[in-house]
Amino acid sequence: MTSREPEWTEQDRAEILALALRRAQRCPCGCGQRYADVISPEETGPAFVAERVVCRARLALLEAQKAAETKDIIGGARLWTVHKRSA
Ligand SMILES: [Zn+2]
Repeated sequence: MTSREPEWTEQDRAEILALALRRAQRCPCGCGQRYADVISPEETGPAFVAERVVCRARLALLEAQKAAETKDIIGGARLWTVHKRSA
């Protein structure tokens, strides 16, 4: 019989459980805020401010896809990835 290291330590399990709990407490709309906060009364709950930023990785992907746009059948089979440019 062979013994081996467990793939998940107690610490790993505790961290993944905590992460799952945090995610479960988020608003399902995609705003990224705590559900309890977004449904709290306006008078007593936190205020929210929205701002717009650009995901530059997504922008690079969209620009590359637009530049490579073709009418051939291969276009739909292309697999795209985004990575950080090395310095
Ligand atoms: Zn929301």
